[in-house]
Amino acid sequence: MLKKREVYICDECGGFCEVNRCPIPQCIGSAKLTTIEIDNEKNLDIVKEALDSIGESKFKVLLSLSSDGPSDIDIVYMEKEAIISDLSNLDFIFNDIPAVVHKKMLKECLGIALLDPYKVIKGEDVKGLFIYSGRLYRDDQQTLFTKRYPLKIEKGVKA
Ligand SMILES: [Zn+2]
Repeated sequence: MLKKREVYICDECGGFCEVNRCPIPQCIGSAKLTTIEIDNEKNLDIVKEALDSIGESKFKVLLSLSSDGPSDIDIVYMEKEAIISDLSNLDFIFNDIPAVVHKKMLKECLGIALLDPYKVIKGEDVKGLFIYSGRLYRDDQQTLFTKRYPLKIEKGVKA
């Protein structure tokens, strides 16, 4: 089922922004409040497919204070089933962050921006999940975890 949500989208790179600035350091774009269509079932299938492709039943997950970039609240292990089940109860989109620096290494991840309230951990609202694939990130490889998932924009971003 398609749902409509209003989110901030960068007018330059088309990426998701939590507020009215683009999180990509090299990007000069500014974020515009934009109505997008979300297909939760399809997004959930993308997550399942990505996690299945790794072949693990548990994943290291960075619980983030921000939905558009990693801002650590905690790093936890989550069962694949728990990730899927939690996400099935929320509206979420992909934030297009393909990797996170962890212990001085760039680790491939699937970045998820939560659009609905999730857990409160250490007194902070968790707004983003960065699910580590367990692999190092290389930007010359296009894996399921690193490919872009374009947002479906209903109204034009440019006003
Ligand atoms: Zn941008």
